[in-house]
This record gives sequence, C-alpha cells and structure tokens, in this order.
Amino acid sequence: MNQNAFLPARVQSAVKKLYQQKNVALNVLRLDEIHPVISGNKWFKLKAYVKDALVQNKKNIITFGGAFSNHIIATAAAANLYRLQSIGIIRGEEPEQLSSTLLEAKSYGMQLFFVSREAYKRKELPNILKTLLQPDDVYIIGEGGYGKKGAEGAADILTECDAGRYTHIMAAVGTGTMLAGLVAASKPTQTVIGISSLKNHLALTDEVQALLKDKRDFKILHDYHFGGYAKAPAKLFDFMNSWYKDTGIPTDMVYTSKLFYAIDDLIEKDFFPPGSKILAIHSGGLQGNRSLPKGTLIFS
Ligand SMILES: *Cc1c(COP(=O)(O)O)cnc(C)c1O
Repeated sequence: MNQNAFLPARVQSAVKKLYQQKNVALNVLRLDEIHPVISGNKWFKLKAYVKDALVQNKKNIITFGGAFSNHIIATAAAANLYRLQSIGIIRGEEPEQLSSTLLEAKSYGMQLFFVSREAYKRKELPNILKTLLQPDDVYIIGEGGYGKKGAEGAADILTECDAGRYTHIMAAVGTGTMLAGLVAASKPTQTVIGISSLKNHLALTDEVQALLKDKRDFKILHDYHFGGYAKAPAKLFDFMNSWYKDTGIPTDMVYTSKLFYAIDDLIEKDFFPPGSKILAIHSGGLQGNRSLPKGTLIFS
C-alpha cells in the first residue's frame, strides 16, 4: 500500500509548571499531524480494513457516522487514496446545509445516504443501496471503525515512538478500538488509561476487552465527559485555550481536550507517582473545531 501520503508522528513534550511541581513528564504523540485529512487515530484504525477490502477485491466501502464524524471523513479520504468507492450512512435527516465534515467527505467522492435515527440504530442499509450494489462488492466497516481489525491497526500507533520508556499511556476513548490496540501493544508493566468522552457508557470495558486476544489490565475513567459525547460547555473551551497557551498544542472539543483536562486533573490530584513518564496520544479530530463560531478558540 502507498503510505507516502502520511508523515511520521512526532513526540512533543508538554511543559507546564504543574508537571514540574509534581515531578511528572508528559509527552504527546502528535498523530494529529500525520495527514491533513485522515488525521489522528483514524488512519491507524482504518488501514487493516482497507487492506482487507483490497485483498477481497471489494470496490465499495460502506460505513456509518454522524454529521460531524471524524471517522466518516477519514474513511472517505482513505477510500479515495486507494481508489475504492465510499458510501456513508449518516444518522438523521439530510440537513439543508451540509456540515463541513460531510462536504469534505463528499469532495473525496463519498456518497451520502441519510437514514432515520431508528434505522441508523439498527445499522440498516437503505433499500436503494441494496438494489444498486452487489452484496459481494460491499465491504462494511462498523460505526467508528469498532472491531478487531481496527484494534489491530491501532496497535501500530505505539510503533511511531519509543513507547517502551513510558510508565503510563493515556488516550481518549469513543468506541474503545484505539484503546484496545494500545493495550495490546503495551508492556504489562505499563498502565494504559482511557478517558471516555461518553457519559456513563460503562460497557466500554467489556467492549475493549472483546477486541483483545488475552485478558489484560487497563483502566477507563468515566468522570471527564463534560456532560456527554459532543457536549462542550464554555469551561471546556476555556481549558482548550489555556492549554494551548501553555503547551502550544491544539486540541479538539470532543476527545483530546477532555483527555488533556483529565491528565491535568489527575496530575493535580497526585494520581501519578512522582517520576511518572506519561505518553498521551493526540488522536486528532481538529477538523471538528471548524463547526465552532469564530473566536471561540485562540487557535484553529
Ligand atoms: C475517533 C476518535 C477517538 C476515539 O477512538 P475510538 O477508537 O473510537 O475509541 C479519539 N480521538 C479522536 C480525535 C477521534 O477522532
């Protein structure tokens, strides 16, 4: 496969007085910078699926998502890169004005089909698609890329840096696919912690474990969702701006802002023993900030 379009991720050290006071080091793996569109963890989660689709000689990739889904845009761009046709099943009615996410997905040739929330929940394909496409020609990737192949690809995230030198690996969690990959690729002596962006989705632990070959220890914290998935109160924007001022690192409002907020809070509360070396995965998602009113963030 041609991976020339992707840059290697750099590791950036985040410097704040708080970290020095508590004697912990925080390094950030900048997956947000590896590609202008297929940024963050999405390429890692998609690549084993795309490879599988090519091996099976499928021409159409179908996947599911909402109007602001990073997964939808990444799938559209990845399919385009490998000359596969992509189809997005989008939750809810077609809006008069498509979100910038959906417009960009369309620009990569993705065909969009809007389905009711009920049909979306059942992951039903619209009838028209069933008549247009041969089932043999269709490769379906689950919502958010959840699945074993997604985790398999995500395990490669840790090969982007010298991951073995860290005591803790921290990442944002949606479906938990990336976390499963990180757990699988980590050493048993390392603590892997996921920060859930969803409110009280306590089944996540089982959903992550289901993607792992062996039983492994990992933690998911459920106290940093800021009201729930895609909920972003003013306090979160204040944090994103101040964290950017301190570290120069931009964050997205759905996942990575909550991750770094949690890390700072945990450091403040002495969760990490002195001497801890933390690797945080910047999983991307910055494109989602485009839907914010101008001036909300001091970076974009
Ligand atoms: C999709 C996404 C995640 C969540 O990844 P999962 O594998 O679904 O847990 C985290 N961060 C960003 C920026 C994302 O776009």
